[in-house]
Amino acid sequence: MAHEVTLIEGDGVGPEVIRAAQRVVDASGVSIAWDKCEAGAKVFRKGLATGVPQATIDSLKRTRIALKGPLETPVGYGEKSANVTLRALFDTYANVRPVRHLPGIAGPFADRAIDFVVVRENVEDLYVGMEYGQTPSVAEALKLITRKGSEKIIRFAFELARAEGRHKVHCATKANILKLTEGLFKHVFENVSQDYPDIESTHLIIDNCAHQMVMRPEIFDVIVTTNLHGDIISDLASGLTGGLGIAPSANIGDSVAIFEAVHGSAPDIAGLNSANPIAILLSSVLMLRHLNEFEAAHLIEAAIFYTLGTQKAFPRDLDKISTLTTAAFTDYVIDNLGKASDFQQSRPYRSMHLPQTTTPEPEPNVSRKDVGVDIFIESTSPVETLGKHLEEMALPSPFTLKMISNRGIQVYPDLNGIQPDLADHWRARFFLQEECAPLNDFQVLQLVRVIGEHYRWMHIEKLAEFDHTPAYTKAQGES
Ligand code: NAP
Repeated sequence: MAHEVTLIEGDGVGPEVIRAAQRVVDASGVSIAWDKCEAGAKVFRKGLATGVPQATIDSLKRTRIALKGPLETPVGYGEKSANVTLRALFDTYANVRPVRHLPGIAGPFADRAIDFVVVRENVEDLYVGMEYGQTPSVAEALKLITRKGSEKIIRFAFELARAEGRHKVHCATKANILKLTEGLFKHVFENVSQDYPDIESTHLIIDNCAHQMVMRPEIFDVIVTTNLHGDIISDLASGLTGGLGIAPSANIGDSVAIFEAVHGSAPDIAGLNSANPIAILLSSVLMLRHLNEFEAAHLIEAAIFYTLGTQKAFPRDLDKISTLTTAAFTDYVIDNLGKASDFQQSRPYRSMHLPQTTTPEPEPNVSRKDVGVDIFIESTSPVETLGKHLEEMALPSPFTLKMISNRGIQVYPDLNGIQPDLADHWRARFFLQEECAPLNDFQVLQLVRVIGEHYRWMHIEKLAEFDHTPAYTKAQGES
């Protein structure tokens, strides 16, 4: 029976490379019923603010799998990109970017046996898009990390390692600085790794990860990381092996998977029949494995390797003197289907088991105690004046001012005589006096009301203790 796949040509070079992928996949012998749908610039220009028509959404709901070209958000249309819309609608929480040296491609890392996969959490972190202007000169973004989201992507990384016969998973975080958000991701990694004793697990700090990717890229097998770090290191990784023209990706959710090249619409070469189709061809290989069509995937991969490594035929971005068009390179790959490449390692690919999380929500046996509040206020007063004033305002309340920080550094009480550069954005930390516990909303609102009579406040954060452990971090210099 044919597999039904939603096919989105996309913008710029999209139609050229998608056509190449469709031809090669069809020639590999696998039976696909392509459902051609629209998204991107054309759709925005028709006046649809999401860039994704209902027909495309319905198709994806039915087929649960898409091969997609790059999508543009034309200037002046739409609030969100069509890519973000698709990602959010179908909760494709895992972004998978295999990074591999391909035969015949020169470069400083060509002899380094690079062959690893970056697994990037694709929906949380700073990409939740919760940004707020605090004052006209200070902006803030919320970095949201959930235990469930972390567990899902980390299990995904281990399952992917198993499905591809890989032996190591590195988790890269900034847990040394961001102890609660990145720390949660690291903590979940340490727990989940115990369920995969057959896979070696190592945590490393993301900056060291970037360093090691350049110094010793061969040590990596699978790297799992949070969204923003993943965004950056996966591009770094594609730079190691030959660039955007050869970098494939998959966006995988519980019900829908979308396969696409990493590159964008490359408007400078759109319509010239010169775009490199390898990235989308390798994305099609990922798609075929997802469909358990391992033989067709193997055939296509081998044909690409043969074309590059044995026939020495390259698209123009990989060889400046090449005259091969997109279509001509695709013809070579089709002609080479069935030819074995010496380069291809035989990986024991098998069907991947999509993870189920075990995190119960809400977590049952964790005690919670609110012990105070941080109130964020706007002010241009000198620190001492502001500190004394806030202390006075807290006097009749059940709260005591513990400290004030500016840009994360404690500035009141002044502990070390050093005055950092100040912004007009302050965090005043108040603790509830023990005898007035437990904290209630009325106490907080009263304090905010009193402060609000003198200062503009922007937001409030409760200071909680979970299982008697502070669930907030200290300011630099706070005791
Ligand atoms: P880009 O489209 O990836 O292109 C950057 C440059 O990389 C191109 O100018 C071209 O360089 C080279 N390149 C990219 N793909 C190539 C290919 N297949 N073959 C040969 N060379 C290739 O990045 P961009 O210019 O930043 O983005 C253009 C548009 O695409 C934007 O609207 C962006 O939002 C969108 N975009 C969409 C996606 C997506 O849908 N997933 C992803 C990224 C960007 P030279 O010709 O100069 O060598």
